[in-house]
Amino acid sequence: MVLEHTPAASTPLSPQQNTPVRTADTRSARIWMPKRVVFTPDALDEPFGQQIYERVTALNLPIEVMKNNRITGLRGADDRETYRIAKNTLAVVNAPKSAFRLQPIPPSADWQMNLAEGCPAHCQYCYLAGSLAGPPVVRVYANLPKMLESTAAYEGTYPPNRSWQGTDADRPTTFEVSCYTDVLGIEHLTGSLAECIKYYGTRAKGQLRFVTKYDQVDSLLDLPHNGQTRARVSLNADTVARRLEGGTASVEARLQAIRKLALPKELGGGGYPIGLVIAPIMPIPDWREHYTALLDRIAEVLDFSRTAGPLDMNVELISHRFTPGSKDVLLQWYPNTTLDMEEATRAEKRNKFGGTKYVYRPDDMKELKTFFYTEWQKRFPNAPILYWT
Ligand code: SF4
Repeated sequence: MVLEHTPAASTPLSPQQNTPVRTADTRSARIWMPKRVVFTPDALDEPFGQQIYERVTALNLPIEVMKNNRITGLRGADDRETYRIAKNTLAVVNAPKSAFRLQPIPPSADWQMNLAEGCPAHCQYCYLAGSLAGPPVVRVYANLPKMLESTAAYEGTYPPNRSWQGTDADRPTTFEVSCYTDVLGIEHLTGSLAECIKYYGTRAKGQLRFVTKYDQVDSLLDLPHNGQTRARVSLNADTVARRLEGGTASVEARLQAIRKLALPKELGGGGYPIGLVIAPIMPIPDWREHYTALLDRIAEVLDFSRTAGPLDMNVELISHRFTPGSKDVLLQWYPNTTLDMEEATRAEKRNKFGGTKYVYRPDDMKELKTFFYTEWQKRFPNAPILYWT
C-alpha cells in the first residue's frame, strides 16, 4: 500500500568506509487531512461537537451530517479498499454510555479514558489491530467534556498492580488517553487533547498521560497544565520507525518535539513532565547498535544540564508482541509487511481469559531487558524505568 508519509532521507556512502551513512531524518509528520468528515446529529448537538465542526470547516474539509447516529459508507469492494476509505474518514460521534465506565490500563496508568478510537497513522504492528470493531475509521467523541467530568468519580481509586506508582493511596490517579488513537495526530481537527490537558490542569487528584508519534506540539506549549499532564513520545530504532511507522514523524522530529514540551516555559517550552515509551522493541539484526544510537541521541537532545537542570522524565520499555487475531488483521491491512510475526520463534503466553499472545522467548527477553536497563541507567540515572514488558 502507499503510505501517507514523505520519503525517508537518502543513504549516501561514506568515502572512507564505503558503508552506508544515514542522513539525519528530521521530517515532521504529514498533517492528516481526512477526505471525508461525518457528524452524527447527536454529536452536533454537543457544544464541543460544534467546536470541532467549526475547526473542520475552517480547514475546508468536506463535511456530511448523517441522517441518524450510524456512520455508513465505510465499506469498500475488498479489505484493502475498506482500509483506505476508513483511514481517510473522520467520524465525529458521541461516545456510548459504556465509554463512561473506565477500564484499568496496566501497566501504563490507572484508568484509560478514550477521547477517540482509530488512528490516522499506518504502523504495521498497530496496537489497534484486532481490537477495533469494524473498519479502522477515526471516531472522535463530541461529548468529551462530559466524559472528562465523569472521571472525577475515579479520582482516589486505584486498580491493583500499579507497583511503579508506589503504594501511597493519596497519590493522584492517572488517566491514559492514548490507548486507541494517536491524540496528537488528530489534535488540529479536534482540540480534544488540549481540552483534556486544561481539564486535568484544574484537578489536584487526577493526572493525564498521553503518548504520540507526531510532532506538532506548538499548540500545547502555552496550555495551563499545572504539571498534571505527562507528555510522552513513542520512540524506536530509526530503522524500525522508517520501515514500519508510516504517516508518523521521524524519530528525530519526535525527539525535538518532546524537548520543546519539556523545556521550561521561561525558555519557550511547555514545562511538562515528560516520558519516553521505547516500543515495540525488536531484536532486529544489529539491534544493540541501533538501540545504542537511539539512546545516545536521546541523551544528546534531552541534555538540559547547562540550561534548565534536571528533567522530570521517566521511560517505559515495551517489547513487541502479537496475538493470532492481531496478526490476521495486520496481514489484511499490510499484506506486504516485513514485520516479523513468526510464531515458531516466539514464546506463547496465555492471559487469564484464555487468550494467547506471542512474545519473545525468555532468553531473548532477558538479553534485551538487561541491555536496556544497563544502558538506560548509565545515561539517565535520575529518570526511572517504570516497567519492562
Ligand atoms: S500510532 Fe499507534 S494507534 Fe496509530 S497506527 Fe501507530 S500503533 Fe496504531
